[in-house]
Amino acid sequence: MAHCEFCRIAQGTAPAAVAFASARVVAFADRRPIRPGHVQVIPRCHVESFDDLDEDLAAEIILLGQRIARAQKRIYGVRRVGFVFTGNDVPHAHAHLIPLHAADDVTSARYSDPGVPWAGAEDRRETARQLRAALNGLS
Ligand SMILES: [Zn+2]
Repeated sequence: MAHCEFCRIAQGTAPAAVAFASARVVAFADRRPIRPGHVQVIPRCHVESFDDLDEDLAAEIILLGQRIARAQKRIYGVRRVGFVFTGNDVPHAHAHLIPLHAADDVTSARYSDPGVPWAGAEDRRETARQLRAALNGLS
C-alpha cells in the first residue's frame, strides 16, 4: 500500500512525467514549476524527511541532482540550478531542482524582504554556539 502520492509515483500507479528512474530514485517534472525544467527527485521508498534518508540514498539523490543540474544548464541556458529539500506539501523526502533565471527564484519572502533586519553578530554567534553543542552530541 502506498503511503503517499509520491510513493504512488515511485510505484508507477500515479501519473508523472518521469525524466529518470533507477532502482532507488525517480526524477519527474514538477506539476507547478517555478521555472521551466523544474523537477523533483524522490527516493522510491517512503522517507518523510531528507534528514531521515540513509547516507547512501542521500548521496544518490545529490549525485543525480548534479547530473540533472548540468543537463538543465545546457537545456535552459542558466548559470545556476537551485537544489532544495522542502517537504511542506508532500511528506515524502523530495529534492527540487530549479533552473535559476533570477536571484529570487528560490528563496523565502522573509529572506528577500529588505524590511527584515539582519541578525546581529551576537545572535549569529549564539546560533553557531547552539549548533556546535547539538552537533557534538550527535554521532
Ligand atoms: Zn511516500
